[in-house]
Amino acid sequence: MNERPNLVRRTVFPRSDSRAVVTPLQPSVVYASPDPDALDAQYEGRAKGYTYGREGHPNADVLAAMIDLMEGGPFEEGQGGIVTGSGMSAVTATLLGLLSAGDHVVGGNQLYGRSLRMLTQDLPRWGIAATLANPTDLQAMEAAIRPETRLLLVEVVSNPTLRIADMAGIERLARERELILVVDNTFTTPYAFRAFDRGADVVIHSVTKLLAGHSDVTLGYVLARDPARRKAVYDTNVTLGLTPSPWDCWMAERGLYTFDLRFERAQANAAALADLIADHPAVEAAIYPGRTDHPDHDRARDLLGGQFGNMVSFRLKGGRDEANALARAAPQIAFAPTLGDVGTTLSHPASSSHRALTPEARADLGITEGFYRVSVGCEPFDLLARDFGAALDAAR
Ligand SMILES: *Cc1c(COP(=O)(O)O)cnc(C)c1O
Repeated sequence: MNERPNLVRRTVFPRSDSRAVVTPLQPSVVYASPDPDALDAQYEGRAKGYTYGREGHPNADVLAAMIDLMEGGPFEEGQGGIVTGSGMSAVTATLLGLLSAGDHVVGGNQLYGRSLRMLTQDLPRWGIAATLANPTDLQAMEAAIRPETRLLLVEVVSNPTLRIADMAGIERLARERELILVVDNTFTTPYAFRAFDRGADVVIHSVTKLLAGHSDVTLGYVLARDPARRKAVYDTNVTLGLTPSPWDCWMAERGLYTFDLRFERAQANAAALADLIADHPAVEAAIYPGRTDHPDHDRARDLLGGQFGNMVSFRLKGGRDEANALARAAPQIAFAPTLGDVGTTLSHPASSSHRALTPEARADLGITEGFYRVSVGCEPFDLLARDFGAALDAAR
């Protein structure tokens, strides 16, 4: 019998004096160290090295460092952002890492649906109370604060009505009351809103959306200004096992290389599409922060520096019948409850993200059966104009 080669000891490696131009994808979960002293040095921060994939890996670190640059980095070694397995795991690691039983949170009343659920249904089971308040109304935010409030969680642009939070006022409030200000920067992206420059203590992203941009990974990111808070979020992330996969990180890195091109294109499309929608007779109102008829237009101009984003919402005259007619007349536009994809997607909050609300609660927010939210993508504008023109005609 022939002698069999030893394969399991992994003795075969590629050899090259030239370096790969593209970041290598490194799926290894385990890392070998020379000896216990070397491990001590790593755990004590005297040497840099990986140990176990749940605690960190090269593809997550490369992605984190790239998003750090967008958020105003580079930051000191070990102080940059933390990549997590999804946007919700970023929210979870932040809240559970920074809060304890008995604490209270004030959250925006139009946060991402699952964040709302976390505040109103999950945190209370763990002894953490939450109150929701309208972040465009500083008095309402202030009135929600209690002696045991520790943290404010806000998004700059509300979903799906695209109202703009009073971020200057909220920053002041957080400083005066010594609260941790957490900003979910997903809708705005670091190109429209640099949260650290506006007083945020913690910045969160769902990298799944505009940053990765192709609807093929879920990932999140958390950046904390204070090292002790960063460590608390990191440890919670690792303990709860919210770690991202190397493949997803590698894919998101690839997406990020075109982020600024995609963002510029999608934003220009959004501005033009908002005008087209607003002028159509089937439409009751078009909502885009870049339009002068938007209720928070001045605040948007100041906070977002003219980067009004890729999201457009609108209300059809009429209700569900008109909404059905519109979706059916535009099969080329993915009717899907997400945002930030390279292609345009359409969502209908009354039947998806906001279906758990009573019709009255939806009406209070202005979300009718004829309400649509559009995540505008990077198609040539002619194509969008043609498709939306036909869809809106069908909804008359
Ligand atoms: C999508 C989203 C999240 C959650 O992100 P996932 O990656 O889907 O878990 C959180 N916040 C906002 C604003 C989002 O749009």
